[in-house]
Amino acid sequence: MGYNDRGPPRGGGGGFGRGPPREMHKATCSDCKKETEVPFKPTEGRPVYCRDCYPKHAPPRTNRF
Ligand SMILES: [Zn+2]
Repeated sequence: MGYNDRGPPRGGGGGFGRGPPREMHKATCSDCKKETEVPFKPTEGRPVYCRDCYPKHAPPRTNRF
């Protein structure tokens, strides 16, 4: 005898929003000129990138081979 409990338990109904929502600021991507929103206040004179372009401009990480 044994119960086969398959499947992960479902806890709650989808909610990973703890704490206050982040304030988003509208900005224009400096790369593709698309309108995007950033979780920080865009600084004048500093480039802002959208999600697509950000990785392209993110500081390179140390390569681990
Ligand atoms: Zn972009």
